[in-house]
Parts: sequence; C-alpha cells; structure tokens
Amino acid sequence: MRHLISRLKRIPILWKLMIGATLLMFLLFSTYNFAQYLVLKHWMLNQEQEELQVMMSQIQSYLKAQSPTTKEVLKSTDVNSYMLNILGKNQMIRLYESNGNDLLQVNNDFDPRWIHATPTTTPYLQDTMHNDDHILVYRAPFMLQKETGTIEIATNLETFDHFNRTLLWVMIFGGFFAVCISAASGWAIAKQFLRPIRELTSTIKNVKEKGLQERVRNIENGDELSQLARLFNDLMSQLELSFRQQKQFVDDASHELRTPITILEGHLNLLNRWGKSNQAVLDESLTASLQEIRRLKGLVQGLLALSRAESTALTEHMELIKIESFLTEVLNRIKSLYPEFNFRMETSGANTMLRINPLHFEQILLIVIENAVKYSADQREIDIQCHEEDNFVCISIKDYGIGIPSVEIQHIFDRFYRVDRARSREIDGTGLGLAIAKNLIHYYQGEISLVSAEDEGTCVRLKFPIIK
Ligand code: ATP
Ligand code: MG
Repeated sequence: MRHLISRLKRIPILWKLMIGATLLMFLLFSTYNFAQYLVLKHWMLNQEQEELQVMMSQIQSYLKAQSPTTKEVLKSTDVNSYMLNILGKNQMIRLYESNGNDLLQVNNDFDPRWIHATPTTTPYLQDTMHNDDHILVYRAPFMLQKETGTIEIATNLETFDHFNRTLLWVMIFGGFFAVCISAASGWAIAKQFLRPIRELTSTIKNVKEKGLQERVRNIENGDELSQLARLFNDLMSQLELSFRQQKQFVDDASHELRTPITILEGHLNLLNRWGKSNQAVLDESLTASLQEIRRLKGLVQGLLALSRAESTALTEHMELIKIESFLTEVLNRIKSLYPEFNFRMETSGANTMLRINPLHFEQILLIVIENAVKYSADQREIDIQCHEEDNFVCISIKDYGIGIPSVEIQHIFDRFYRVDRARSREIDGTGLGLAIAKNLIHYYQGEISLVSAEDEGTCVRLKFPIIK
C-alpha cells in the first residue's frame, strides 16, 4: 500500500490532474445517473401498480353491479367481453373460488401457468419472477354467493424491464463518453496550464548547463504562471548583470593592481642588478618604489571602501544629524588639511535633519572636496552651498579648476575611470573616489550629479532625502 502511495506521488502533475478530473467526473456522473435511474424505476413501477389498482376497482364495481354474483353470471358472455375489453397487452385477469378452481380467465400474451392461483381474503400486491419475466400480480377478494372468491390481475413487466435496461445502458454509455471527454479535456487543460512550468524547468536546466544568459520563451498569456516565468526572467537578468559587473570589477581591479606591481618589480630588478653599488640608482628606485607602494595602498584602501559601500550592512550606526553644523565641522577639518585654499560656505535651512551614518556622510564630502582641491589648478577657491529643495537637501561643491570634457562626464562615476590618463598621471588617484561616493549616496536614496566645463570648473551636486 505504502509502495503504491509513493508511486502515485511520483506520477507527473499532468497525469495527476487528468486522473483527478476523470475520477471526479466519473463519481459525479455515476452517482447522478444511478440516483436518476433508481428514481425513474421506482416511479414507473408505481405507475404500473396504480394502473392495476384502478383496473381492480373497476372490476370490483362491475361485479357488484351484477349481484348476486353467481358462477353462472361469471360464465356469461357479457362478463367475459367486459373483462376482455379492459384487459391490456401482456395481462391476464382470472377469477377463482376459495379452493382455487377457475371461474373465469382472460389473457393477452400471458400464460396463466406462469403464476399459481392463490385465494386471498385481503387485497395485496405481489412482485414475482417467472424465468426471465418480471410479473406484477394484484389479488383482491370478491363475494361469490356465500363464499369469498379471488380476483387476480397479473401483468408481465416485459416492456418496463426492457425500457429500464435500455435506460441503464444509455446511462452507462453516456457516462463512459462523459468520462472520456473529461479525461481528454483535463489532459488538454493541464497541458496548457503546465506549459510555463515546463518551460521554466527546461530553462533552469539550460541555465545549469549553458549559463546565465538563458531565458524562458513564449510566455504570451498573462496568467499567474506566466508572471512567475516573467519574474524568473527578470531575476536572471539581474543576476546576469550583477555577475558581469562582478567579473568586470575583478578584471579592472587586477588590471589596476598589476601596473604598480610591474613597476615595483622593474625597480627591484634594477636595484638587484645595479642598485647595490650605484647610489643614484638606489635613491631613484627606492623613491619610485615607495611611490608605487603608496599607490598600491591607496588602491587597496579604495577597493575595501567600495566593497563596504556595496555591502548591505550599511544601515548600522545610522544617526540623525543636523546638516549645517555637521557640514561646518567637516569643512573645518578639511580647511586645516588644505590651508592654501579658500573655502566659502553658504547655507539656508539650518535645521534640516538627515538620517545617515556620519562616517559615510563625511566620506562622501571628503571624496568630492578632495577632487575639487586636486583638480583646481591655480584658482584656489571652492564654493559650498547647501539648501532645501522639495524633500531633499542639496549640497553643491563648486571649483574653478581644469574641469571635465563633456564626453567624459558619463564615465566619471565608473570604477577606476580617470579622465585623460596622461593628465591624471601627474595627479595622484585611483579613479575609485566617485564610484564609492555614488554607491554610498544611492544607498541612502540620494543622488549625485555633476556639471563641468573644461578649464572653467566643476560643480558636483549631492541630494539627500530629508527627515522631517
Ligand atoms: P581617487 O580614488 O583618489 O579619488 P580620482 O580622484 O582620480 O582618484 P575619482 O574621484 O573617482 O578618482 O574621479 C574620477 C576622475 O574624474 C578623476 O580622475 C578626474 O579626472 C575627474 N574629476 C573628478 N572630479 C573632478 C573635478 N572636480 N574637476 C576635474 N576633474 C574631476
Ligand atoms: Mg577623487
């Protein structure tokens, strides 16, 4: 039994649905048909019985009218023709004495030997069989001079049975057809219903074998299963994108790390060959190596910061900060770092509050202000403005430096991207600053944008949602 259940569980859903629909249809149809058959049969039998009873009361009234009812009267042709007149097909009317001797007998396609004469003093119905024939008998007493005779009406229910049998077969065949049709339609519906699931399964298999680019195809109808397939496609697209980005990141990072390491290796080889005896080579190579090590350190720190900015544990240590006082505080620290610069700050909306990790806020400001400083050339002025706009607080940092060519602006937030490598060579940097800032700001549902003109300067705008 358990074996059978476990085998049943393993049947494909398509078959389960089809068998389920068929069984349900079979049960419904057979119960309904069987009930209908029984009710009909019962009703028809009642009709037959009522017919016999009506006949019996007609005969009884007729005999009463002939009283006194003697054997001679019963043998008269009048009585005989009356009996023949009311006799139906497959019927017999018989009158006999209390000892069973026949007084009168008329029949139509009914053999009197099929039933025994059974005298009675009370009326009753009898349902009996003779071979294959189903016979209904109604017996009732009547007064024959001083004794009691019996009137017997019998009818062969051949037509009734024939009708019943035909009805039963019609119902069985009808039921069988209904079950076949329900099985076929159940199968077709289940097949249609399971198509997206099958597509999904085969796509998952393909993803496993061929890679993340596989998608579920042919999902034209908008039902829940197609929505599931569509959702799966979206999920796979996201997964593929983030997978590509990760790969790109690793490629870029290893490429960026390779350059300082190669330079370092070159200098160390030089030192190994000539540096031990030649003071000039020694000095030069050591200085260059130290510079590359610093660059490497900066790169590694930047990568770490970026990976932290991309992690989801950012919400830890969030605080409500008052923007103006915080900005002034940070700016004071920066001013001491770059005393040769003139920072001008203008704020409106002193009570604006932000919900952010203060370290992140400071990091974002540092990245942008450091850039403004680094790419400022001769005009050492930086304007910082802060104001409210809709539900955001906008902070803009403007410098009057070398600016960025308009074609480059779209790439400026990419990791490791630095405008014009030759130009950037003189200015230290890894190209990670703005990428880190962008990731952090996006995490707080903020925005970062940049307007710049070459040799005129750059203005970076930061937008953060305000906490009221
Ligand atoms: P670091 O990782 O040390 O910040 P970086 O400054 O080169 O290196 P980003 O801050 O991401 O990297 O900036 C990317 C590039 O955008 C810079 O190399 C620079 O060419 C350009 N850039 C950014 N800010 C400015 C600015 N204010 N003026 C001109 N160019 C800028
Ligand atoms: Mg920078």
